[in-house]
Amino acid sequence: MQSFECPQCSATLFFDSLVCKSCRTVVSYDPVRADLVGNATPCANRDAISCNWQTGGDEAGHCEACRLTTLVPDMGSPGNDALWAQSESAKRWMLANLAAWGWFGADDAGPRPEFHFLAEQTGTGAENVAMGHKNGLVTINIMEADPVVRIARREQFNEPYRTMIGHFRHEIAHYILFHRLYNQPGFIRQFRAIMGDERDDYGAAISSYYENGPIDDWQQSFVSGYASSHPHEDWAETFAHLLHLTDIADTFIAVGFSSIDVADKNFLPYQAVDSEHLLSFATELTIGLNQLNRSMGLSDIYPFVLTPSIRKKISFVHKWVSSGPAGRLDLKPNSPRQNENDSI
Ligand SMILES: [Zn+2]
Ligand SMILES: [Zn+2]
Ligand SMILES: [Zn+2]
Repeated sequence: MQSFECPQCSATLFFDSLVCKSCRTVVSYDPVRADLVGNATPCANRDAISCNWQTGGDEAGHCEACRLTTLVPDMGSPGNDALWAQSESAKRWMLANLAAWGWFGADDAGPRPEFHFLAEQTGTGAENVAMGHKNGLVTINIMEADPVVRIARREQFNEPYRTMIGHFRHEIAHYILFHRLYNQPGFIRQFRAIMGDERDDYGAAISSYYENGPIDDWQQSFVSGYASSHPHEDWAETFAHLLHLTDIADTFIAVGFSSIDVADKNFLPYQAVDSEHLLSFATELTIGLNQLNRSMGLSDIYPFVLTPSIRKKISFVHKWVSSGPAGRLDLKPNSPRQNENDSI
């Protein structure tokens, strides 16, 4: 993620800044310019969820990010407002990352995902919420914005990493596959060669995963145990990792750090064409960043090992996603049966 400057006083601002702390200028994020601006009409959700994007999405005065949310959580339970706000913040971050590749931006004429944000605790009692993607709709459980809940589930599912932005990067991957890439010439043939046959019974694969755990030696070819459950989950997990790594690299350079592995200080990770170069740079960074975290007694920021076979998969996703939707036909999806949810 890029860093920003106050349009008034040039102080450093950040992606979610609402006000410049130095000069008190109110700022908004303009997704077309990918920059913070003053004097913009704010999103109608600014007060409700601290959305700092400018209006422009719909008649209700929502921004391009908030307009994609077609169901907001029940507010009858204390704290749901804050959990929703944090969840939407992660959504905006993911959308800005994808916009750097042209996805869902002003020049993208293709279809958009829809988001439902649901709460486990409502004014009328407890609800079961399954996160997942189906038919263009991404369902998000706002409870996962609560770190206590999230860490408990991370332990329960034996995962090294679990975040709200990770959920968004995973679920949007399912959307892009089904609704934007599936019918692109050559895509599914290459997908099957690298990730396996996505027509394998999804329900049976997921049930088997939760009964028996991941396959033996999954670490050799899969970025996570869950990725080994089915080719669709391999795609979604690998896609999420491409975004994790590209965004770490982008942020590292944007804040002014440097590395001997980057000869060119103007290297722009979101514009990288050579995925091997991007991956080598990002993985070097993660080794150093993990060490930094250890110096504060924190767990690793990127607790993963990328084998050559995993890097090949990430490169495949990079090839199809980093070139964005430009020039691609948006054929009507005749995609196969879509997975119900992730049950995670
Ligand atoms: Zn300022
Ligand atoms: Zn908004
Ligand atoms: Zn999934």
